[in-house]
Amino acid sequence: MDLNISFGTKKNTFTNSVFCGIICGNLRPEARASLNQKVEGKKPKRKDNRYHKTKDKLVETFGGKCGICGYNKWNRALHFHHLDPTQKDIEISKLITQKKPWSMILKEAHKCILVCANCHSELHEKS
Ligand SMILES: [Zn+2]
Ligand SMILES: [Zn+2]
Repeated sequence: MDLNISFGTKKNTFTNSVFCGIICGNLRPEARASLNQKVEGKKPKRKDNRYHKTKDKLVETFGGKCGICGYNKWNRALHFHHLDPTQKDIEISKLITQKKPWSMILKEAHKCILVCANCHSELHEKS
């Protein structure tokens, strides 16, 4: 088998990267679109620093640790769990995402306990 292929005037050795270039380049537009979607669907490209700043501040305000097991290593693994679901107006994360005023976020957070992701899922399993 001849592993040498040519692009225009250039001669290239058939390496993995060239191979990928050919495969990707030959994808039908709809297949390529679905590939792109998969990549984009994974994670938001832009880190929303403002979100995490507000979340960090809120976590600190509420003691900075899980109210059940005391976990305090990573703020992002700490969640606000509504003690009484009937009192719940909106998710805390949504309030932050929607850039609601701090007072509104605090008011909603007062209906919650701060728990880590593990304890949070346990709470939901048991309820
Ligand atoms: Zn916990
Ligand atoms: Zn919850």
